[in-house]
Amino acid sequence: MMENSDCLFCKIVKGDIPSSKIYEDDDIFAFNDINPQAPTHILICPKKHIEKIASMDLEDTALIGKVIESAKKIAEDKQIEDYRLVFNNGSGAGQEVFHIHLHLLAGRPFAWPPG
Ligand code: 5GP
Ligand code: ZN
Repeated sequence: MMENSDCLFCKIVKGDIPSSKIYEDDDIFAFNDINPQAPTHILICPKKHIEKIASMDLEDTALIGKVIESAKKIAEDKQIEDYRLVFNNGSGAGQEVFHIHLHLLAGRPFAWPPG
């Protein structure tokens, strides 16, 4: 598995930094956000280190599809009907950890536009 030794989420995926794991398979690792912004706030990562959506290769498209499919399955397992999925791309959009992750947020109302 391609990884970046300086990356926080690569360390979480490997288990070098502990996390509250929600789901794992060969390609995906999902865990609770340490600073939740909603009653449910789960981060779904590809295990492969990709910095952000904008740096994806075409061949990563199926993997990102699997990230979204994992969010759908996690929501189904938790019987969550309404949720928000967010990829922050770049620091100007709020990205702080440069390893792609999908935020799954639920359990409270969400404003639109998001602000
Ligand atoms: P971003 O701002 O990059 O889209 O999201 C990064 C998320 O990672 C933030 O919501 C932040 O709370 C979460 N986070 C940062 N460090 C850790 C950590 O060590 N463990 C966990 N579980 N979440 C983290
Ligand atoms: Zn990484």
